[in-house]
Amino acid sequence: MMKCPYSNLCENMNYGTFIDKHSRECEYRSIKCQCSVIMKFNEFENHQKQCPKSKISCPHCQTVFVRDSNHLETCDEMNISCHQCKTKIKRKEITDHIRDVCPETMTTCPLKYLGCGGSFFKKDKMAHLKSDQHINVCMDISDQPVFMTTLERGTFETKFQFLGINSSFSYQHGNQVLDITFDNLNDQPFAKDYDFRISIYDKNNNILDPGDKYCLSEITGILSRHKQNQAFQSIKLTIFKKNQSPQKI
Ligand SMILES: [Zn+2]
Ligand SMILES: [Zn+2]
Ligand SMILES: [Zn+2]
Ligand SMILES: [Zn+2]
Ligand SMILES: [Zn+2]
Repeated sequence: MMKCPYSNLCENMNYGTFIDKHSRECEYRSIKCQCSVIMKFNEFENHQKQCPKSKISCPHCQTVFVRDSNHLETCDEMNISCHQCKTKIKRKEITDHIRDVCPETMTTCPLKYLGCGGSFFKKDKMAHLKSDQHINVCMDISDQPVFMTTLERGTFETKFQFLGINSSFSYQHGNQVLDITFDNLNDQPFAKDYDFRISIYDKNNNILDPGDKYCLSEITGILSRHKQNQAFQSIKLTIFKKNQSPQKI
């Protein structure tokens, strides 16, 4: 009979049993983890929960990684907070957030190309659009027509910017309807100062319909329904300052 060399807690056994079986099964035997730490076998399970070399599954992206790797510093699916506005957001979305959404990002006025020197945090954009600095720039644009875009036959939509606002002018083939849209037009202080007109031309550029004049701020959606058989070649949208109807359209 012999005592187990790993622990007094094991029962006495004969040498054959120790060699054939117990030496390989004793819960107090020493083992060496892949992290090089030596411990008793029965401590191994607990050790695994913190072993730097154990593999774990990322709670954010389910990738399996070695605990002491830097996965959590680079995991794309993990929420981190924006250093500007502190919003929690996935790491892979932070660049887009800062560029397009973050209210604390500095930006310049969409009318910079027309001379507005405004620069402000994105969250202050509406305040800027209503500021004297900005409105004075809008008022100074006196060339007319201020803007013109044309849909040739076969073109169903044209996108453009009007005073920095994303806009589109479109023609629905099936029901012969024209539509013009401006992003958040009601928030634009200048909208009430502009009129627009939609005119229709034939292939020789003769006017088929000069169109009525409407105020830009009164756009409701569908603009006009023109005759099915009208042999139009192009449809022109003209925007001009109020009371300054263009001489020639
Ligand atoms: Zn033992
Ligand atoms: Zn270990
Ligand atoms: Zn991950
Ligand atoms: Zn932010
Ligand atoms: Zn401005």
